[in-house]
Amino acid sequence: AYGYTKEELVGRPFTDLGPFELDEKQWADLLDQHTGKITTVSSKVQYRKKSGEAFYVNVHACPATYQDKEALIVATTDITEMVEKDSQLIQASKMTTLGEMSAGIAHELNQPLNAIKMGSEFLEMMIEKEERIPEQDLYHIVREVSSQVDRAVDIIRRLRDFGRKADFSKERIYINDPIRSVLDIIGRQLRLQNIDVQLQLVENLPPILAHHNRMEQVIFNLLTNARDAINLSEEYGARSLERRIVIKSHMLEDRVIVSVADTGIGIDPTVKERIFEAFFTTKKMGEGMGLGLSITCGIVEDYGGRIEIESTQGLGTTFSLSFPAVQ
Ligand code: ADP
Repeated sequence: AYGYTKEELVGRPFTDLGPFELDEKQWADLLDQHTGKITTVSSKVQYRKKSGEAFYVNVHACPATYQDKEALIVATTDITEMVEKDSQLIQASKMTTLGEMSAGIAHELNQPLNAIKMGSEFLEMMIEKEERIPEQDLYHIVREVSSQVDRAVDIIRRLRDFGRKADFSKERIYINDPIRSVLDIIGRQLRLQNIDVQLQLVENLPPILAHHNRMEQVIFNLLTNARDAINLSEEYGARSLERRIVIKSHMLEDRVIVSVADTGIGIDPTVKERIFEAFFTTKKMGEGMGLGLSITCGIVEDYGGRIEIESTQGLGTTFSLSFPAVQ
């Protein structure tokens, strides 16, 4: 699979072949176990073949005895095809979200454009009337135009960053960052739909091992589901007519928690068992693909995270995600 000949490999430490998540001590502990238990040492990591071509692998190790000596059997499984399919699915779902958001974004871009138009019309009118524009006004208008262009560029940049295809690498990220960048994109649209979005973020939380862009997608999914649940709640005349989403981040023991609570329609217990299935949706044709939570779950598990749900029908739902904190 790696493209090496046997001669090229014999005598080399296998750790030369790619990144492993274990340090020397952890390897030694593994060897000491003598239990024959299979341990996952790397999951979904990118390796390179001899030719330099990248491929994704899962690596498992199992202590054993060979010719009376302690040995370690290490097995590498090529999972490139699966990872590529996953990544296509994730991207497809992201594109649907972007499509869905486009109306709101068009609206948001219109505001800086209108401001620029007003400024330039004023200048045009003054020139046509051959009137002198006071230095101070001219300066003010030029500055305003420039800052509105910055605002539009910023909206486009955020959108482009979100749409970008992310890889599976893990890095130290702070959970508050993707929460804030997602709110930068859809916060205004939620407020335009009369949803009160409350942020209760604890600052200076330790980092987690994840990926900014993928975590954005996770939070995006949770927020759009919360929004849909709130809108449905009104449609069905539920008990709670509050329209509120509360996003919290905090620390619980050695885990970083992020939760999204809505005052939406809630989840029926029979439905709850199935919501993580791919293509499971209770939404109308064209409104839900049923991919959001299955993708969310996959991403969260990749980063050693867990998802908990609390829901009361007619009152609302809270999704809590927890990730191991790294120091
Ligand atoms: P989709 O949103 O496209 O239906 P998801 O996988 O994101 O796909 O969600 C699956 C189902 O889980 C939804 O159709 C809905 O029934 C339920 N669900 C998810 N989040 C919530 C929520 N916050 N409140 C109520 N129901 C929810």
